Amino acid sequence: MNTRFGEYGGQYVPEVLVPALMELESEYQRAKKDPAFLKELDGYNVNYGGRETPLYFARRLTERCGGAKIYLKREDLCHGGAHKFNNVMGQALLAKRMGKERLIAETGAGQHGTATAMAAAVLGMKAEIYMGEKDVARQRMNVFRMKLMGAKVHEVRSGSKLLKDAINEAFRDWAASVENTYYLLGTAAGPHPYPTMVRDFQSIIGREIRQQLIVAEGRTPDLLVACVGGGSNAIGTFHPFLDDRNVRMLGAEAAGEGLDTEHHSATLTVGEVGVLQGCKSYLLQDENGMIKEAHSVAPGLDYPGVGPEHSFLKDIKRAEYVGVTDKEALGSFVLLSQVEGIIPALESAHAVHAGMREAAKMSKDQIVVITISGRGDKDLETVFDMGVVQ
Ligand SMILES: *Cc1c(COP(=O)(O)O)cnc(C)c1O
Repeated sequence: MNTRFGEYGGQYVPEVLVPALMELESEYQRAKKDPAFLKELDGYNVNYGGRETPLYFARRLTERCGGAKIYLKREDLCHGGAHKFNNVMGQALLAKRMGKERLIAETGAGQHGTATAMAAAVLGMKAEIYMGEKDVARQRMNVFRMKLMGAKVHEVRSGSKLLKDAINEAFRDWAASVENTYYLLGTAAGPHPYPTMVRDFQSIIGREIRQQLIVAEGRTPDLLVACVGGGSNAIGTFHPFLDDRNVRMLGAEAAGEGLDTEHHSATLTVGEVGVLQGCKSYLLQDENGMIKEAHSVAPGLDYPGVGPEHSFLKDIKRAEYVGVTDKEALGSFVLLSQVEGIIPALESAHAVHAGMREAAKMSKDQIVVITISGRGDKDLETVFDMGVVQ
């Protein structure tokens, strides 16, 4: 198995974790070829997750843009309200198969922690979630959701008390507990084999898009659009089409308050190459190599790194990446709600903005697919407090 995507990826971890990563890689290699594992995962995807999710032709949004036909891949209809389901079920089933009874995870805004707690509950496993103290204070309802589903939440008080400190604590825990513990990483980043494994579990998004669009239109799309935080819903959307040279790919990053400010998370657009969470990739760092705090109105995009495969796809120009500001995303959040009756996650609203902008420039016989990574219910308070809609 290749540990890198070009120069990106790798395993930048303490020595004590190397055997655990090797065990994970070989177990995953076996699992993905084992019909019994794939059947069990498929069963949870269908009967518990509600897959497949619809590929919906957005007629009114298309008319609004006046260009290419726009289809929406409805990951917001997945159990738990987002694509995170695809990854946590895959990894939790792998953990169970490996005989580990305890799942640990880091979480920023709490969305990945909530998804991990859900997977642990349904499989009868223990979940312990590391979360920065400041994030715990900001995300009371997600902390409650995790506890409600039986997970334990560790408040991290070291460093800046945010996601990157929670990541450090989770790695520390894992180094001391690899015997019985599985580290369930939340996006297509981290040390090898996580970026590959998470991408594979999320690729169900792109595989379904391909089949559904063949039925609807008899062909592949001209453009795929997805938002990029760590990059898992985007790589899951893109990957099954990488060999289709006529399919363009566009990732929408959070430009926050603007790329010329300190308040954004546009890792690929303006970041530099470095190492974060055991993996070499583009990231936001200062001149001393210290990781900078990321900002976005969308909590799931607020990550200072990005999955290594995206860094590679950017360099070889197979995919393009653009920044979408908080304000632009809020505009699309309201627009999609009013034009299609679909309230997207603020993260997904970034993709909607970028997708609409491109569709308007394309011809009416072309097709754009935008992945709606999650539903917006979790963001209602944020948007309400901003007074965007009277
Ligand atoms: C977590 C999250 C994201 C960002 O994660 P990726 O790994 O970049 O996909 C995007 N949208 C939603 C709804 C999320 O919950």
